[in-house]
Amino acid sequence: MTSSFYLSAASNLFTTTTTHLNPNRLLGFGGGFIRFPAAKRGFRRGGVLAMAAVEKSNEEWRAILSPEQFRILRQKGTEYPGTGPYDKFYDEGVYSCAGCATPLYKSTAKFNSGCGWPAFFEGLPGAINRHADPDGMRVEITCAACGGHLGHVFKGEGFRTPTDERHCVNSVSLKFTPAN
Ligand SMILES: [Zn+2]
Repeated sequence: MTSSFYLSAASNLFTTTTTHLNPNRLLGFGGGFIRFPAAKRGFRRGGVLAMAAVEKSNEEWRAILSPEQFRILRQKGTEYPGTGPYDKFYDEGVYSCAGCATPLYKSTAKFNSGCGWPAFFEGLPGAINRHADPDGMRVEITCAACGGHLGHVFKGEGFRTPTDERHCVNSVSLKFTPAN
């Protein structure tokens, strides 16, 4: 009775929440400002705001991503070093997730690491999740909103940046928007 009421209320809540996740589909890829508030609203688990608000099947991702974007974002691939369009690119603006359009990095956090991939010393607050690789050697970074693979983060390499962290990100995982 009481417990089934709560169960029912919870499943209604979940259904309501998931219907909010679909404006992408209604508006087409990259639902802009309508999608992001939905992602930010998210839903709470144990008091922690879960940002994984963009959930699609592999089939749905394949429909909106290029084969290379799918290989890197969804299958954790890596672009060949020195080939990405943002490797040596320093215009002013914001880099968003190429999968779900969530803003991830400001150009002011970008620096030249010389490693062959775009490097940032910090992401936008709450935009990026970290996961230890299974081999324990590296820390993977993903888009907090859609789980898309971005690259890896390294710390303590001695770069003269405010954080001494290097977010080593595939250009393919990013989409740049100029400041003006
Ligand atoms: Zn994303």
